[in-house]
Amino acid sequence: MDQSLKMESIILPGNELYDKKRKVWNATIDKHPGVIVVCESEEDVVKAVRYAKEKGLSVTPRGGGHHVGGFGTCDEGMVIDLSGMRKVTVNEEQLVAVVEGGATLGDIDEETQKFGLATPTGTVSKTGVAGLALSGGLGYLRGKYGLTCDNLVGANLVTADGQLLYVNEEQHPDLYWAIRGGGGNFGIVTNFEFKLYPIGPEVLAVDVMYDYQDAKQIILKAQEYVNQAPDEVSFNVTVTALPPAPFLPEFLHNRKVVMVGGMYAGDPQMGVNVVKPLQELATPIVDKTGVLPYVALQKNLDAMVPDHVAVHGTSLYFTEVTEEAVDVLLAKLDNAPMPTYLAQLWALSGQMNRISPEATAFSNRDSSFVLLLDFMYMGAGPEVCQQWVDSVYDGLLPLSNKGTSYLNGIGANEVAAMNTLGKNYGKLAKIKAKYDPENMFRHNHNVRPQD
Ligand SMILES: Cc1cc2nc3c(=O)[nH]c(=O)nc-3n(C[C@H](O)[C@H](O)[C@H](O)COP(=O)(O)OP(=O)(O)OC[C@H]3O[C@@H](n4cnc5c(N)ncnc54)[C@H](O)[C@@H]3O)c2cc1C
Repeated sequence: MDQSLKMESIILPGNELYDKKRKVWNATIDKHPGVIVVCESEEDVVKAVRYAKEKGLSVTPRGGGHHVGGFGTCDEGMVIDLSGMRKVTVNEEQLVAVVEGGATLGDIDEETQKFGLATPTGTVSKTGVAGLALSGGLGYLRGKYGLTCDNLVGANLVTADGQLLYVNEEQHPDLYWAIRGGGGNFGIVTNFEFKLYPIGPEVLAVDVMYDYQDAKQIILKAQEYVNQAPDEVSFNVTVTALPPAPFLPEFLHNRKVVMVGGMYAGDPQMGVNVVKPLQELATPIVDKTGVLPYVALQKNLDAMVPDHVAVHGTSLYFTEVTEEAVDVLLAKLDNAPMPTYLAQLWALSGQMNRISPEATAFSNRDSSFVLLLDFMYMGAGPEVCQQWVDSVYDGLLPLSNKGTSYLNGIGANEVAAMNTLGKNYGKLAKIKAKYDPENMFRHNHNVRPQD
């Protein structure tokens, strides 16, 4: 190993930290990398990649380790762990945040909100920005300002031959295009530059809970709402059974509910009437819609998500969630082996769908909802859970938007990845052949190099 890398940053099997460091968010993933290198600087990343190249190792970059498919780890190859690189620097004049590759969403919000600014990210603060941004990035600002990848204006990236490149509209524009939706296929991003906008400090958050018996009506009305939603409103409809957790009142324990959560990205007072229909999709059992700090909203769901949990997850996009699709989904949920699922339907509208499918590698710009289904299992066997998740996917596939999935919400599935990258796949494969012909970065939704 490169002698100039600190010894404590190189973690080999047998090292006391090895078992802790090889873990990712999804506890079903049990992989054993040949070596884990915890980097603290761009130079560390360059040295680690050069070493891997010399030894012919595959390389898995890890940001926050949250990918449901366990793409932040691998068997045998090298994991380059960026958790030592989480700095966020705000350039107030240029309205740009420079974000290191291991930062979490919480790191970004905390720093940018000091200036009353924000960039579109996601909704759970411990999620890594790297994986999220490289394959999209869905959060409460998607309607107003687009996806996280739509707001990437430049990046530092270490390619498979160990070169550090700056990429943007002018410099290496092919790579700049590819990393906005093409995932971790093209190199390791050490620094992202994201556009910033004035947001908050207080925002209007939608937070309504309905009874499960009204689920069908709620989802169909949500579809009507999204068809005419103003850009300022982004929201999600989540069907779940609440845990018997101490942070919830007892009457909600183990209750099946439909939660509608979202945000109005504008003057909170102006939003009050605009979001009202989302509070009237049925008779609410709890309605906490109101004004709160943006940073608090961005952490609102954290308590619902364990740090390390066994999950099977899948995803499908829909141009429209029809009555038939709702019936299929709810029938499947009624037959789940355990009620430990989170079935989230994210409404998609506004700026994120106004961008041309060819403008960036992220090509899905004509859906009105995406389903993100996570099944957390504690008791029932993993096979039963996987079979059930697969059966939901298979049941809804014919009703989906051309078999496309949110690549940040689905494990390895080559057909889904090819469908999703669609017409952009061929161009991505050529860029891959130019910058990573040996497919060093392959533990992901892999784009195979093709000249
Ligand atoms: C609890 C939870 C909440 C979530 N909430 C949202 C949400 O609100 N919105 C949303 O859009 N998604 C959300 N997601 C999905 C999320 O976008 C993906 O899990 C994403 O992959 C997380 O990025 P990461 O850096 O943590 O992942 P990792 O597992 O570390 O990496 C995922 C992929 O990115 C690549 N990668 C990681 N770092 C780099 C890098 N620096 N350079 C190049 N490639 C890299 C890896 O090789 C891998 O292919 C959520 C996931 C979880 C588990």
